[in-house]
Amino acid sequence: AAARGKTVLGHPRGLFLLFFTEMWERFSYYGMRAILVFYLTKHFLFSDEPAFGIYAAYTSLVYVTPVIGGYLADRYLGARRAVLAGGLFIAFGHILIAVMEGPQGATGAYLEGFYLALASIVIGTGFLKANISVLVGQLYARDDMRRDPAFSIFYMGINAGGALGPIVCGVLGETVGWAYGFGAAGVGMLLGLAAFIALKRELHGAGEAPSLPVLRAPVVAGLSREWLIYLGAIVATLITWQLIQHQDAVGTLLVVFAAATVAFILWRAVFTLPKVDRDRIFAALFLIALCPLFWALFEQAGSSLNVYTDRSVDRTLMGWTIPASAFQSVNSIFIILLAPAFAALWTILGKRGLEPSAPFKFGIGLVGVGAGFLVLVAGAAAYAGAPTPVIFVILVYLIHTMAELCFSPVGLAAMTRLSLPSMTGLMMGTWFLATAGGNFIAGLIAQATGGEGAGPDTVLAVYSRIGWYSIGIGAVVLVVSPLIAKLMHLDLLKAEAAL
Ligand code: GLN
Repeated sequence: AAARGKTVLGHPRGLFLLFFTEMWERFSYYGMRAILVFYLTKHFLFSDEPAFGIYAAYTSLVYVTPVIGGYLADRYLGARRAVLAGGLFIAFGHILIAVMEGPQGATGAYLEGFYLALASIVIGTGFLKANISVLVGQLYARDDMRRDPAFSIFYMGINAGGALGPIVCGVLGETVGWAYGFGAAGVGMLLGLAAFIALKRELHGAGEAPSLPVLRAPVVAGLSREWLIYLGAIVATLITWQLIQHQDAVGTLLVVFAAATVAFILWRAVFTLPKVDRDRIFAALFLIALCPLFWALFEQAGSSLNVYTDRSVDRTLMGWTIPASAFQSVNSIFIILLAPAFAALWTILGKRGLEPSAPFKFGIGLVGVGAGFLVLVAGAAAYAGAPTPVIFVILVYLIHTMAELCFSPVGLAAMTRLSLPSMTGLMMGTWFLATAGGNFIAGLIAQATGGEGAGPDTVLAVYSRIGWYSIGIGAVVLVVSPLIAKLMHLDLLKAEAAL
């Protein structure tokens, strides 16, 4: 349904409703994540290794479920109902963490309640994350030129939440009390949900179920498909509750799920697609294959880098010690500042026919994410024996943000551009699945940094090694990028777009 009704800044009012909802959802996600590792080590008194393991299981499962949530919304629920259900599960999860804080070093029911809360956020994110982007798309007709700018505005909402969450939840959680930090995340999600419910009419029917009679008709035991999905989500929450406590099982699940998905895509590409479309899917799979590598390094942010900032960085500013978790905002702040510049850069280069291809940008991204770590390693070495000056942490996040802008939005756009409409959902889901793999490997790297006994030198040795690996792989990608770009058949794409 193309949008009707009043516009703001030339866009349907529904866009700003979705901006606001996603801003608060990301506020809750990044705010909670910023203090999660510290909550595990300082409140539940885990040592580093299991804490990084739980963090990795949680942050990877959060990117597995959107594949399923996207499918269920396409087939039965519609994106609007999915976002609503997702928001409820997410808010419930954050508030449950706050309620189940218990005394320091608590075990038993408190810890079980905490794991259940994580599971609820995982399932909620599965319903919400992909589908809210789908809703943005549905506000515009297929040929509406405002679609790309709309996604840029929406991405600002994501990062406004990502900037605000760690500051608010981080300062509250680390200085006032953990429950206040997690509670704030829950309140944020509830605010987003309230706006979403109150302004439903601004969507003008976008994201409704494909067929209400099918959704509502009783199928078993008098229950409709809609209620079966909600009940299924509760059962899935209970399964995730157990899964999240077993890092190995999450790893196995990821490998099996990813192998099956890639095999399915290859099968479809080889047997059902004409040559040009098949080549494009191969190019997309090449990009997807680099995705785990990039996020495995980038996502040290919330785990090992967060802990390094806490233990080994001079965070005093005019007599006040900034909580380490607040630095989790830096990436989003840089995104807000730099995203317009990068968009302009691609446009300027594009006008001269010089815009680098997606695989070339991926090569730059991999070199950049590696170089960021080397800058920290060099800075720490220059001040060996003393706390690392805070500027080096800011520099890591600055370089990583520039690398992210060569990688993440480029990848999302490439998925939609390289696949036929009938496969876009599948390719997008696979992209997120690869992100999940990256977050899982990130946990293994964090665990390799040696834990509390090892000291900063072990951490820095690991950072140096992964930094050089990534630069090496990035260089190879730069070299082979013209071959991959050829598989994308961009010349034909431009001709198709002109039709
Ligand atoms: N920061 C972006 C978001 O939260 C992208 C994260 C990702 O793809 N890993 O939506």
